[in-house]
Amino acid sequence: MTIAGLPTARGFAVGPVFVYRGDGEIPIPEYVVEPGREQEEMQRFRRAVAATQRDLEGLISVLKERTGRADVRVFECHLMILEDDVLQSEVARYIKEDRLNAEAAVRKTANGARAQFERMNDPYFRERVRDLDDIERRLLKALTGYNHNPHLELKKPSIVVADDLTPTETVQLPREYVLGFAMNGGSTTSHVALLARALALPAVCGLGDITSRVTAGQTILLDGTNGAVTINPDAETAAQFETLVRRQRELTAAAAGGAPAGTMKDGGEILICANVHPGVPVAGAKEYGARGIGLYRSEYLWLNAEREPSEDEQCEAYRNAARFAEKLSPGSVATIRLLDIGGDKLVRGISAKESNPFLGNRSIRYLLSHRQVMRTQLRAILRASAYGKVRIMYPMVSCVEELQESARVLEDVKMELSAAGVPFDRDLPVGAMIEVPSAALNAAEFARLVGFFSIGTNDLVQYTMAADRGNEAVAGLYQPLNPAVVKLVKMTIAAANERGIPVSVCGESAADPVVGVYWVALGVGELSMSATYIPVISKVLAGLTKEDLAEYAKVPDSLPPGSTAHDAFAACQAWLSAKLPELRDSLII
Ligand code: PEP
Ligand code: MG
Repeated sequence: MTIAGLPTARGFAVGPVFVYRGDGEIPIPEYVVEPGREQEEMQRFRRAVAATQRDLEGLISVLKERTGRADVRVFECHLMILEDDVLQSEVARYIKEDRLNAEAAVRKTANGARAQFERMNDPYFRERVRDLDDIERRLLKALTGYNHNPHLELKKPSIVVADDLTPTETVQLPREYVLGFAMNGGSTTSHVALLARALALPAVCGLGDITSRVTAGQTILLDGTNGAVTINPDAETAAQFETLVRRQRELTAAAAGGAPAGTMKDGGEILICANVHPGVPVAGAKEYGARGIGLYRSEYLWLNAEREPSEDEQCEAYRNAARFAEKLSPGSVATIRLLDIGGDKLVRGISAKESNPFLGNRSIRYLLSHRQVMRTQLRAILRASAYGKVRIMYPMVSCVEELQESARVLEDVKMELSAAGVPFDRDLPVGAMIEVPSAALNAAEFARLVGFFSIGTNDLVQYTMAADRGNEAVAGLYQPLNPAVVKLVKMTIAAANERGIPVSVCGESAADPVVGVYWVALGVGELSMSATYIPVISKVLAGLTKEDLAEYAKVPDSLPPGSTAHDAFAACQAWLSAKLPELRDSLII
């Protein structure tokens, strides 16, 4: 049986199924204990505190040994909070006076403390909320015996089949055992998709109820290029699949050895860079000719860790990014995007519960309301800039105030470093992502305030079309060539050109040969994408001249009134196929 889904990350895999079911909320009972049993409940609580203390002390000593330094402040602070008399007596009061069970008493105490911390003006205390979350979770785990770590059950190479995966769940999976992803939900720009692309693993999203159609251990064929999954294939289907696998391998191998990425037929050059998720190995960036890091998704430093990375750890990570960029191509730059948290990129303990997280306190908004996190990250990037070329990029900017305020914070941090004699690159470029419609509409104003733009089409399409990028039910509205999106992209490019600042596209549409080349035709000078997609786009660009691009840019405009985004895509695809017939029947266009 073959099930069709969305082609999410190119490539093919054959293997046994591993059905991933999430970690989720810890289910806790809440009840009133019988009169006279309060002491017993207190005993349970004390045992849970003791077990949590042991866990934390164990973790601290392992970390001290592993890192070779005493950078374990966060967990020492957790120990102190855990041992805090006020908190302990509050739990005891709920148990003894209200006769609540220990789990409910812990939750109520944590909720009360959280509310208090959140009300405080001091950002330091507001950020302690995440420490409380962590301690509460540990205590509840100890009380309920809840010990579910689904990623630990994956012990041999398998195709991960899941309803949906958060970025945190995805990064926790042991990479050596993941052959690919088949998902009920998700879409081409959901985060599991981006990670799959970064890891050069095939993925198919939007498969509906694949989790209930397969059983663990069953063999499936995963075709991420065409978006299909075959369950229990017969010999003929398996043989056809083998042919597809071989063709793709040959194609990528041939592309890897060609002209430098982004070189056009007439010698024109488009800068092609790689998108990088820290902590996730970058497959193919060097051999496919990436010339820098166009998007460093710094939030993965948070998603990958149990706790907030320290300034030193961040600085080290950004220095490594700069080193990596330099290795890709001498003099090239690593574009560090500030913490883009929120929406579906939730970090346990940091992210507040919001009823509409995609429109909530996320990205630059989060940073401006958590100044200490922002200042630490800016300090780390600036310090790293003394050792290699980096640029700063602000995520999800929607109004000029955010850019003005961010500039003030940056200036302040620079003064602080200067006063302390810490070296940094004083000319470090600062740019903005253009990924919400208001940013594109404000682009002329923004261009006065920053040194470069990078268009994030994943979010720009999501917010323009009001279509959740992770929801397969509205995946049909992921239309980068919708005239509304194209107008916003054109406005952004015009504003950048007017001020003479560079503009790139770092959303996944850059990797689609039809759409990515269209952005170039409209005047974008740089594309940044998952490295494994570079050979394909390079091959298409290598067959085109400047004049071809000028002609290509007009293709959607020449369609009759009433034409759809689908028509625009088909017309562009047909134009490219006619222009480059040798690529027509391959997997490229
Ligand atoms: C985008 O929105 O296009 C983008 C590149 O950022 P992310 O996918 O990380 O949200
Ligand atoms: Mg985005």
